Amino acid sequence: MTTVSEKEVQALYAKLQKDAEASGYHLNPDREFVLALVEGLLLNKERYGYMLCPCRMGEGVREKDRDIICPCDYRDADLDEYGQCY
Ligand code: SF4
Repeated sequence: MTTVSEKEVQALYAKLQKDAEASGYHLNPDREFVLALVEGLLLNKERYGYMLCPCRMGEGVREKDRDIICPCDYRDADLDEYGQCY
């Protein structure tokens, strides 16, 4: 069974927060929502070896999922159209 620790989730959240702000992006202000996504990213990293978007169904093969590894290829277009990513 795949599991991640609270410490790992908090550490990645802090890194993503820092990276996002440094790049002119902002994480969703709903921290609990983002923490759940971060946990999903870590679980996918354990399962597949890369951070497949937790909101999407991937193939489980890096080459086929390259467009939906976070941050995905669709992020900026989604931000422009919807003000947030998928
Ligand atoms: S940037 Fe893309 S891959 Fe990352 S959480 Fe948003 S929709 Fe998913």
